[in-house]
Amino acid sequence: MEEKGRIGIPRALMFYRYFPLWKVFFEELGWNVRVSDGLDKRGNIVYLEDSCFPMKLLVTHSLVLKTQVDYLYLPRLVSLHRHHMMCPKFRGAPDIVRLATDGMVPILDDLVDLRVKGHSMRESLLKTGKRLGAKEAESKQAFQKAEAFFLNFQKRWLERINNLPIKQVFDLEAPEGVEEPEKTFRVAFIGHPYNLFDPDVSKEILTFAKSLGMRVITSETLSEREINAQLSDLSKEVYWSSGREIVGSLFHFLSGGVDGMIFLTSFKCGIDALLQELIRRKLKRSGKVSPPLLILSLDEHSGREGLMTRLEAFRDVMEERRHEFNLTYVRST
Ligand code: SF4
Repeated sequence: MEEKGRIGIPRALMFYRYFPLWKVFFEELGWNVRVSDGLDKRGNIVYLEDSCFPMKLLVTHSLVLKTQVDYLYLPRLVSLHRHHMMCPKFRGAPDIVRLATDGMVPILDDLVDLRVKGHSMRESLLKTGKRLGAKEAESKQAFQKAEAFFLNFQKRWLERINNLPIKQVFDLEAPEGVEEPEKTFRVAFIGHPYNLFDPDVSKEILTFAKSLGMRVITSETLSEREINAQLSDLSKEVYWSSGREIVGSLFHFLSGGVDGMIFLTSFKCGIDALLQELIRRKLKRSGKVSPPLLILSLDEHSGREGLMTRLEAFRDVMEERRHEFNLTYVRST
């Protein structure tokens, strides 16, 4: 098929979940998808006052792409859940990028709001396809293929995250890699996907964790029902969809199945601050022995060495706990 032009997808925010879906959709319609690289060696980022690190990264990546592509793809993700909303920063993200890029590149920003009929991810992409000149039937077919690819990608998630170098997890051409030797600990890594899987944010903590004998488990492996089941007895409803996913999966793993949990938070994120408080209260109330929890707060100033030291110490805590309670590692995935 003749190439129609280039669509840029910034390597930031929900790229770290939906990239496989988006990429296949646009390629099926004949567009070349270009993704920004990671940060340069000096880690230069664009500073925006009062913004969280992930938003700064969105702007930084968009600025890199603005002269290389015909369009930027940045859907307005208001809600990815039938009853709950994304953080308000997602709603304004396309406008922030439009301002930062001086309107130099058109932004494909069709709305995704699952609370409202007609605004699902599918419908949003069909609208985007129309803006790009595709016929409805072509867009529907492209979405079908993209969705099938995405579902398969999700099914293989644990293999990818554990077998591939973290920088290649979203490289769709990368072969899945070989199963690494049996790991000593199962550790749930919880947080926004753009904190966990962006090596520029997490300083490759997942790579280091694997080298310390930890098998990585993430909330991607849990169903919405499993997550919701953990939230029913909270005195306050968690309104933000990403917050629900974080708290629900953390509570789920608290009841067992893992040797430890690590929650990666963004330093300037109000939602993460609130979630930490909720989690602390729940732990205090439960009074049960639960797997150890490490909360790491990240921003652009976080040093790799400091994080690694804390991870090593956490591994020792899990080791001690295992001896103390005579726990046995059982591999279930
Ligand atoms: S949820 Fe937190 S980290 Fe994510 S975009 Fe909103 S403020 Fe930033």
